[in-house]
Amino acid sequence: MSIVDNLQRVRETLREATLAAGRPLGSVRLVAVSKFQPVAAIVEAAAAGQVDFGENYAQELRDKAELVATPIRWHFIGALQRNKVKYLVGRAWLVHDVDNLALAEEIGKRSGGSPTGILLGVNIGEEPQKSGVLPANALDLAEAMTRIPGVELRGLMCIPPAVDTPEAAAPYFDALADLAERGRASGLPLHELSMGMSHDYGVAIRHGATLVRVGTAIFGARPPRTAP
Ligand SMILES: *Cc1c(COP(=O)(O)O)cnc(C)c1O
Repeated sequence: MSIVDNLQRVRETLREATLAAGRPLGSVRLVAVSKFQPVAAIVEAAAAGQVDFGENYAQELRDKAELVATPIRWHFIGALQRNKVKYLVGRAWLVHDVDNLALAEEIGKRSGGSPTGILLGVNIGEEPQKSGVLPANALDLAEAMTRIPGVELRGLMCIPPAVDTPEAAAPYFDALADLAERGRASGLPLHELSMGMSHDYGVAIRHGATLVRVGTAIFGARPPRTAP
């Protein structure tokens, strides 16, 4: 299957899930996760109309952004270290997995005049080995993030625990959606929900995702990490 065929299929699944959820078409944005994929694959997807691309490594995003001429909206979806923020600011349209104030402050400090969009990463399954703020502390942290100059908090992000079937992740997607709803009820700008990957984005959409991060279903298996 070619990237163009894969994209077509993913868009169709996205559309069906959006309609099945009774949500308006266009309320879910597809982020094509291009980590480790060559620039040629990005160019091919962009030529087929794909706009949003996600990367996990800051230097890789920077390098690819230099090489791709097509206008692309870059998303940074990986774990971010403070000393790598400089590679992203001015390039990433949204940084998905910000889970502490120091990181948000660093992004804000480097953003200069135009604020960088961020999402708060939540450890929704409360897994000890995972990053992300615990759900019980998420809204306080979100509130603090709204007061940091240079960043614009737009929502929440999660990677649910590994489960046997896509449907089994639904309670975690619901939990993130509930958290965002409670935040909005107290005035927090938690409009975006970044959740769902190749194996479960249909379920995530039915449970409220506004951003799905889909890699292998579009690009096929990831090659080993190399320079772009
Ligand atoms: C790699 C990655 C994805 C994409 O995963 P696929 O299973 O290839 O769709 C999505 N989100 C995050 C945070 C990732 O690291």
